[in-house]
Amino acid sequence: LMQLFRPLDLLGWVYRTIRQGLVDMGEMFRLMDTEIEVKDAPGAPALSVREPHVAFDNVTFQYEDGRTILKGLSFEVPAGSSLAIVGPSGAGKSTIGRLLFRFYDPQGGRILIDGQDIAEVQQESVRAAIGIVPQDSVLFNDTLAYNIAYGAEGASDEVVAQAASDAALMPLIERLPDGFETTVGERGLKLSGGEKQRVAIARTLVKNPPILLLDEATSALDTRTEQEILGTLKRLEQGRTTIAIAHRLSTVADADRIIVLDGGELAESGTHEELLAMGGLYTEMWAQQAAERNNDAEPEAAE
Ligand code: ADP
Ligand code: MG
Repeated sequence: LMQLFRPLDLLGWVYRTIRQGLVDMGEMFRLMDTEIEVKDAPGAPALSVREPHVAFDNVTFQYEDGRTILKGLSFEVPAGSSLAIVGPSGAGKSTIGRLLFRFYDPQGGRILIDGQDIAEVQQESVRAAIGIVPQDSVLFNDTLAYNIAYGAEGASDEVVAQAASDAALMPLIERLPDGFETTVGERGLKLSGGEKQRVAIARTLVKNPPILLLDEATSALDTRTEQEILGTLKRLEQGRTTIAIAHRLSTVADADRIIVLDGGELAESGTHEELLAMGGLYTEMWAQQAAERNNDAEPEAAE
């Protein structure tokens, strides 16, 4: 498979990206077709984050194919608050995350972190400020300790242990004969989806970024595991600016603000209660998901 990737630097980029657990494997194949890599302007300064305020200001974006994905999108996330982004599949939710992480630069408008246009600062400094928990986290064939400390080389054993504890990984680690030194990943101990997400959360706790981006972080999990991980995520969100992209509305109903994205445009925004009072798209999605929850519950009750 490796000889299929021609440009070597693209390979390096894809590899680093996967290693950082930023994209899932399906996404990797899509990214391989895409040669866009943003370039820093000569002499661009590093992003300096004192107040992790995030703003999209009239952002317009399209991938290469000429179809506009985001159509003049504006929203603000005050420092330390949480924003949830919901909306139909294909609405452009993950694209917002990719732009914030500066995988791409928008064609129009600006994305600001603490008042600085992220297109005008060093991309590495943008990425250092943001912790991502994706839908499926990638583990490396290495020890649990390595996986937790990844991206923050030189993190002390104490920091790693504290992160593992805060991510509720200790019951697992204490069960393993080799504890933190257990090899995980494809060639080691296979972790469940929930355990992998806990490792990703611990990794993010070690990185300690001011901004958190959750892209359907719990949507690959069963309902019970999802509830457990949501509790752990709350700890991760403490004191950070959080943007949570969610398919299941019930998982983000307590966000400070929710925006409903539809076809690359902001359709509605408000708190959960405000959105329900509007009786629009959010209400419709909420009712539909409530009905699905009931349908799922019925066969179980009958068993
Ligand atoms: P969501 O996360 O809301 O489901 P996405 O942001 O992933 O939606 O995608 C929005 C639209 O952009 C979709 O129509 C999708 O097919 C398209 N898209 C996503 N990634 C790419 C890409 N790398 N190249 C071209 N189109 C893409
Ligand atoms: Mg998505």
